Amino acid sequence: MRRWNGWGDEADDTHVGSSGRRYLSKTLGPGTPPRDATLAQVVATVPPTRLADGDDPLLSTDPELRVRRARGQSFPDLVALRSGRLEAVPDAVARPATNADVRRVIDIAREHASRLIPYGGGTSVVGGVSARPSQDPLITVDLAGLNTVSRVDERSGLATVGAGITGPDLAPELAARGLTIGHEPQSWELATVGGWVAARGSGLKSLGMGRIEQLYAGGTLEAPAGAMDMAPYPASAAGPDLRQLVLGSEGRLGFLTDVILRTTPLPEAERMEAWALPGWGEGQEAVRELVQARAGLSLLRLSTPAETQTLLAFADRPSQTRLLTTYLRVRRRPSDWVLLLVGVSGRRRIASAAAAEAASVLRRHHGTKIPSLASTWYRTRFRSPYLRNALWAAGYGSDTLETATDWSHVPLLLARLEASLAGALAPWGERAHVFTHLSHVYPSGSSLYVTYLFRLATDPDETLARWQALKRAASDTISTEGATITHHHGVGTDHAPYLAAEKGPLGMAALQSIVRTFDPEGLMNPGVLLSNRHG
Ligand SMILES: Cc1cc2nc3c(=O)[nH]c(=O)nc-3n(C[C@H](O)[C@H](O)[C@H](O)COP(=O)(O)OP(=O)(O)OC[C@H]3O[C@@H](n4cnc5c(N)ncnc54)[C@H](O)[C@@H]3O)c2cc1C
Repeated sequence: MRRWNGWGDEADDTHVGSSGRRYLSKTLGPGTPPRDATLAQVVATVPPTRLADGDDPLLSTDPELRVRRARGQSFPDLVALRSGRLEAVPDAVARPATNADVRRVIDIAREHASRLIPYGGGTSVVGGVSARPSQDPLITVDLAGLNTVSRVDERSGLATVGAGITGPDLAPELAARGLTIGHEPQSWELATVGGWVAARGSGLKSLGMGRIEQLYAGGTLEAPAGAMDMAPYPASAAGPDLRQLVLGSEGRLGFLTDVILRTTPLPEAERMEAWALPGWGEGQEAVRELVQARAGLSLLRLSTPAETQTLLAFADRPSQTRLLTTYLRVRRRPSDWVLLLVGVSGRRRIASAAAAEAASVLRRHHGTKIPSLASTWYRTRFRSPYLRNALWAAGYGSDTLETATDWSHVPLLLARLEASLAGALAPWGERAHVFTHLSHVYPSGSSLYVTYLFRLATDPDETLARWQALKRAASDTISTEGATITHHHGVGTDHAPYLAAEKGPLGMAALQSIVRTFDPEGLMNPGVLLSNRHG
């Protein structure tokens, strides 16, 4: 069964190994495991529903289900769930199975002056599905029932699927037809297709396969103002593309019900390689050269020296780490070497040529190929989210943030961002351990994916205050440096205060009037994307 207060399956017992614990103790000090509330304790605090029509067959007012759908996976969500201080739970959970059900849920909300929170896999890390105190009743709309593959046009490579389907349920159906989606966020196990589109996400292999904007071909939006169908034209010059409005709409415009995805033939060959580059500067130059040469790779992921060392510590294989360190020392690589992962995928001959081209560029940048590490990383690529539960149990908080900027600004932004995070806990006499990688790279720039670890306080409110200080420091830096407030996690509520700096007054006014057009009564996902009902 899915864990109600963290990531993944309840039965999973991932823990921080001894070398990871030593590393954390050395960098941050010993952690104090918190005392979490139990599900029964939290369910006991659920207030009666405010919905007069709570017995509609589409709605459930079961207190446990209301708790299980109350929050997503942001750090504040985690603190609320673990401490049992939820602030709000939805008054009901709706579980539509058809587009007609979705329309009916919209009608129910209208009749009962309620607000609707679209809930896909609930993996939002920015507060996109969190119930917040509201004068109006809240209905969380769990879209998991929209999970069918209704059409696959193999000739065109187009698959029409229900927005509530997850990657693991969809992938085998496509694989049986020789196709793949190519979108693999690290939240793969739980996130849904509708959530990918609504939050404008990016998969691990976005370099080769494209972001969700390239993979989303069209579909249906059921909005309070009516339904909008978007045809899967391969390209069109018929004015602005309405699909771009829906991408990143985060449930503010309506519900994505049918999603048409562009698929790719299953790759004949798929390979990952790990390289050691002598230092961060050299690593960045190598990656920039590869992406600007359009070398045909599916993935490039470059870790800073701090991330490289942290990954090795958490791998908890001390003998292998020693062997690797000796191997690199013998090859006269500096101690601040950085890890680069390189992926190729596709037709065998093309993939081999791309790997050969990458190897020649990397050797010119004094890279050294590391045996076996990349295949282990690839095999366990969806396991790292489980580490968050384990860190919490050991007394440490962990969160990530992501941004993007052009190559000219990457070095300065990285330095300022890491410094702002590292110093943000000074008022508590604490520090954060901060490390970064470049994960999604483009010819003109790169995303920066920053992880920060810190000690939990004994009081959950203080833990939250520490996180708020970290988040504010990082978001202010990103905004001041002119980078985007989010590269792929979306805006939610956590980034909403920073959106105006990025879009400008006219841009914000345009967004507000678009929301009003699709949702004139302000039924949809209050506070998400735009700061209040209509922004
Ligand atoms: C451990 C972890 C790793 C992650 N890794 C990645 C990653 O690699 N790449 C990435 O892009 N993101 C990542 N994320 C963020 C998150 O998984 C993505 O934003 C994902 O696309 C959300 O999908 P979901 O189905 O869980 O959506 P939800 O979290 O349920 O919803 C996200 C937003 O979309 C809205 N929404 C959801 N479904 C619909 C719909 N059908 N119609 C209208 N609105 C809808 C919601 O109201 C909400 O505002 C990660 C999150 C976690 C916890």
